[in-house]
Amino acid sequence: MIINLPWARLTLAVLLPVALVTLTLTPIFTSHLEERIDGTRRSAESLLSSEYDLLLRGMNESFNQVLATAEYPLLQRFLSRRDGEQTPTWGLAAKDDWEQLEALFDTLLTHFGRYTHLTVVDTEGREWVATSTVPLLPRPPVVDHGATPAFRQAMTLQARDLYVSPPRLGASGNEQEPVTPVIDMATPIVDDQGERLGVLLFTLDWSQLTASLPHARESQAEALLVDAQGEWLLPDTVHADERFGQPVTEHWPAAWSAMSSYNQGTVTLDDHLLAFRSHDLRTQHYRSQAGMIISDPGTQPWRLGILMQQPSFWGLLKENPVQLLAIALVYLLSVACGVFWVLSNHRLRELRQRALLFSREARQYASEVQDLYEHAPCGYHSLDSDGRVVKMNRTELEWLGYRADEVIGERHYRDLVTPATREAFDAAFRQVLGKGQEGSAECELLCRDSSRLPVAIQATAQVTEDGFQYSRATVFDLSERKALEARLERRALTDPLTDLGNRRYLEGQAAMEMARAERSGAPLSLIAIDLDHFKRINDTYGHDVGDLVLQAFAKLARQVLRDGDVLCRMGGEEFAVLLPDTNREQALRVAERLRETVATNPARVGKDTTEDGTLAYTASLGVTLVSAGESTLKPAIKRADQGLYAAKGTGRNRVRWQAT
Ligand code: GH3
Ligand code: MG
Ligand code: MG
Repeated sequence: MIINLPWARLTLAVLLPVALVTLTLTPIFTSHLEERIDGTRRSAESLLSSEYDLLLRGMNESFNQVLATAEYPLLQRFLSRRDGEQTPTWGLAAKDDWEQLEALFDTLLTHFGRYTHLTVVDTEGREWVATSTVPLLPRPPVVDHGATPAFRQAMTLQARDLYVSPPRLGASGNEQEPVTPVIDMATPIVDDQGERLGVLLFTLDWSQLTASLPHARESQAEALLVDAQGEWLLPDTVHADERFGQPVTEHWPAAWSAMSSYNQGTVTLDDHLLAFRSHDLRTQHYRSQAGMIISDPGTQPWRLGILMQQPSFWGLLKENPVQLLAIALVYLLSVACGVFWVLSNHRLRELRQRALLFSREARQYASEVQDLYEHAPCGYHSLDSDGRVVKMNRTELEWLGYRADEVIGERHYRDLVTPATREAFDAAFRQVLGKGQEGSAECELLCRDSSRLPVAIQATAQVTEDGFQYSRATVFDLSERKALEARLERRALTDPLTDLGNRRYLEGQAAMEMARAERSGAPLSLIAIDLDHFKRINDTYGHDVGDLVLQAFAKLARQVLRDGDVLCRMGGEEFAVLLPDTNREQALRVAERLRETVATNPARVGKDTTEDGTLAYTASLGVTLVSAGESTLKPAIKRADQGLYAAKGTGRNRVRWQAT
């Protein structure tokens, strides 16, 4: 589909490059992004693994310390001795043991720094030795542990078994944060005979143990530790919505859904990646010396997760401003190219349309020119240097009566010219080929039907750097002009009243006849004729009747004379006849026959003029020979006139010879 609307094309020019660049860049960025996501997943998984190990190692070290301390002989001896006395008042030996135990507990507290309370409780639940990072008041044995879950659970256990509570809030010993999550670890104290002497209770500062876990959401990663119910087990983070003991489902329902469904794995949560695994203290002892570990029902297993921000397109772009700038530049350039392409294409289209218009006009013009050429009122033709026709318009072809294929490339133009005018044509053509480069001639064209057409040819040479190419000629039809000229010529030589030739005509004819007589030696005679008393006719009947008589004489004389005889009116009522091939006797006979015919054939002048409508008249004639040596007719005319005068003088209506 061709989109013609400029705005639509412009929109396309913007959208198409944007789409192309996007299509090109998307796979690159997608693969880059996938790599980054894979990297983030690997990081999350590796962080989870290391943090998990760290946490368990810390816990198990604590477990082992509790278990090892419970087997300490001094502790067993102290509890045995105390039992023997059955009273809170101590002997010196018990006091000494107590002080040693306290010193030992102090050492454990200060050296490991992870405990908040180390307590020894007898089987009655009375606290005998208690060391703490916080002051213990009042002094033992006044605190009753009988009701605490740790004591009660530990009292049910065998030696080397362990009770571990879920994290709970307790005293931290830190003045800035007095309350912190703590874990109670309790194990029974049993003597060599297997008699239960009491319970050893270590309270672990849970925030110390989990200190290595990432907590802030702004950081690359965030740890997430929940119990089997999905409650937060980590100390409060900077986020108010992630508080110790609160259900994780409130803020990370998707995370909880995944973590509660599988023991371990990695899932994508909106814009985060979560790597997680679960740990059950009761079954996964991890290098612990413990025989059995129990905890509060429904709290195990715990689930530890590492949340990491999932890389996004926008995040990738923001990471590298130079890259962002480069992409923006690519888009800008591609759009600029598209717009430039549309604009230049628009301009090109305009130019093409204009060129189309020009070419259409040019074709029309060329066709008009061709039409003019073909149907011009004159002929056009072009000849090569040999005079062969290379081009000829229809007008000239029609004049000649030939088809184009019969002439063009086939005929030499001089063959189309009558032999009589061929020389003129050749001369003109030579001029065209020569330095003048133009020539003209009046010729007669030899038409197919053998008719002849008088024409005027004007030709010019078409010369280029390579020299003469062809001659181009315009041919004008002269037939009308020639006819007019002939009419004028005839009129100039004809007497209008009698339609006979006039004196000039006689002179012209005489020149030819005299030349011919000269060549042949044949005699040439001349008769001068004058109507008798013509003035009287005019005077009597009027000038018009006189004209009728003149016309009647002309007609009559034509009938008497031969075709070759030249009869003409010399003026007034005077006529002359030039008689080729006619000697004196013959001329005298012709003259006599003329005289007699005139005398016996009155002119018809109408009954209005005379009674019978005719008018008799006579003529006097002088006859002479045109001498061979004479160059003009004048001397002969003079002699004939002398003969004529002689006829007049001797009575008119007669013929007189006038010798040379
Ligand atoms: P002659 O017998 O001696 O020749 O006598 P004529 O009267 O014929 O001779 P003249 O020369 O005295 O007269 C010639 C006359 O012819 C005079 C003129 O009026 C007349 N004429 C000349 N031309 C024409 C013409 O064209 N028409 C008529 N009707 N008369 C003409
Ligand atoms: Mg006269
Ligand atoms: Mg006369």
